[in-house]
Amino acid sequence: MKVNFYTSKREYEEKKAEFDAAIKNVIERGISTLGPEVKEFEKAIEEFTGAKHAIGVASGTDALVIASDILGFKDGKEVITSPFTFLASTSCIAKHKAKPVFVDIDEETFDIDINKIEEKINENTAGILPIHLFSQMADMDKIMEIANKYNIRVLEDAAEAFGMRWKGNGETYRHSGTIGDMGIFSFFPTKTLGGYGDGGMIVTNNDELAEMARKLRVHGASKKYHYDYIGYNSRLDTIQAAVLGVKLKYMNEAIKKREEIAKLYMERLGQCEYINIPKIKGAQQGVYYVFNILAERRDELAAYLKENEIGYSIYYPVPLHLQECFSYLGYKKGDFPVAERTCEKILALPIYPEITREEVEFVCDTILNFYKK
Ligand SMILES: *Cc1c(COP(=O)(O)O)cnc(C)c1O
Repeated sequence: MKVNFYTSKREYEEKKAEFDAAIKNVIERGISTLGPEVKEFEKAIEEFTGAKHAIGVASGTDALVIASDILGFKDGKEVITSPFTFLASTSCIAKHKAKPVFVDIDEETFDIDINKIEEKINENTAGILPIHLFSQMADMDKIMEIANKYNIRVLEDAAEAFGMRWKGNGETYRHSGTIGDMGIFSFFPTKTLGGYGDGGMIVTNNDELAEMARKLRVHGASKKYHYDYIGYNSRLDTIQAAVLGVKLKYMNEAIKKREEIAKLYMERLGQCEYINIPKIKGAQQGVYYVFNILAERRDELAAYLKENEIGYSIYYPVPLHLQECFSYLGYKKGDFPVAERTCEKILALPIYPEITREEVEFVCDTILNFYKK
């Protein structure tokens, strides 16, 4: 049995009429940038997340770059973040000539270790950039407490965290991205809310920051051909917004299906002594964007899955502090042992709403067979 790590084909077949109609509407009306579908989708995201403002941009990466610019993560300032993440979480800081300052991750959540942040803060620190990775949010109570104490800004990389909500010691659940000064989502195709191409979003509850983001995505213009700032050309594409609008309607259902699949994996693999399954920590509603295991003999297991035509992924094989592009920061192997160890053991299994129970069973059987060998 061949099991795809991810495919969009089944979803398209299920909702073909809706996707086709959404795309056709845009094309028949005539091409446009920032068309009505973008505004409608931004409204829908505001409603879904509770954010006061949602600003659609070309990708999650651009959202991070623009938000970093707005929050002053630039010109020699320092920003505290973790090295176990996708490149874009840190390149957005470096792009503006700010200095990424890494701290290690929490062993169980893979998110930034909140106990190691404060010791890195000095008078040059501009902010904290926590990444809500895979299935759960970083401890936003603690992060906001530190940020408020030192009067620094918080940019939440919620690229992977669509649908995740944090309660902590608060009264209500708050959606990822809406707790810090600004937050970002990615609509990269594999993400929980993924388009059929690139897309991203900035969210904030602050009117001025939102206004700035709206200007910067169109070259810093306050009106056409009148530029207040040197900005970017980074708009959410109208066709992608139309597709995403369809998908958002089914989001709660899709999240529930992901949870059922994760449960099945946990039931079947939970007893295996060679596998560790991450737990969701803190008062929060996680979302299984990725289902990871920490596996003994990870690379051999991966090869075995490949032999058996099972798709998998390794997020992330090399932590950012050991990447060539960040060598100028002067970090070395051993600086962040938890992140480094995790890179050697982590393995992501297929999870998406349309995967079948039989396929998940087959993945589990194959993994259990491997360890019997
Ligand atoms: C996907 C991702 C991004 C970048 O999003 P794109 O839309 O692909 O540019 C940023 N940060 C994290 C943690 C991601 O997983």
